[in-house]
Amino acid sequence: MSEIDLGQIAKNYAAKKDFEIERIASSNAIGLRPEVYSILENEIKKRNLNPNLLEGAKAQNRKYSRQEIIEYSDFLRSLSCPNCNSKTSKLNGTTQFIIKSFILFTFKEEKRVIACPDCLDKKSNEAILKSLLMGWWGIPSGIISTPFYIFKNLKSKKQNRIGNHNHTLLDFTLSNIGFIESYKNDNDKLRTLINFK
Ligand SMILES: [Zn+2]
Repeated sequence: MSEIDLGQIAKNYAAKKDFEIERIASSNAIGLRPEVYSILENEIKKRNLNPNLLEGAKAQNRKYSRQEIIEYSDFLRSLSCPNCNSKTSKLNGTTQFIIKSFILFTFKEEKRVIACPDCLDKKSNEAILKSLLMGWWGIPSGIISTPFYIFKNLKSKKQNRIGNHNHTLLDFTLSNIGFIESYKNDNDKLRTLINFK
């Protein structure tokens, strides 16, 4: 990258608002070129933002072992449940597979939820019920896909009460690793990541 490009990037970053710098560093830094880190670092220091943000940006451009992802996921697991506020059980994840049909149109949705096991079961049941009520009414896609969607919810539901970190939680953790690294000392901010209400 030439000096001119870097100068232009520095100018662009300088013109951004604080929340934009925070968002880029914590959640949008995949593929950020190493030369740009120092520009980002400069903005973070100049504005007196959370210094962990730079580590958050770097965290999105590394590879992780399963064990490392588990350690990051523990920052989320020990939060209180975003649905019922309980701190009794460690949080885990589930994926809701929802299908809705309106005769010729069928909409499919996949949503990851992080919550306590009781609330995860509620969310799985909700996805099953929604798909049961609304999935069938599409020709032919709804009729073909609805049983498959219900099956996928049942499969995900089986993971809601396992004692350790489940697949959805680890997947969610990896997708948000920059944010977790940036705010691992700030539970209020971490809560915003898993809030689904
Ligand atoms: Zn709960």
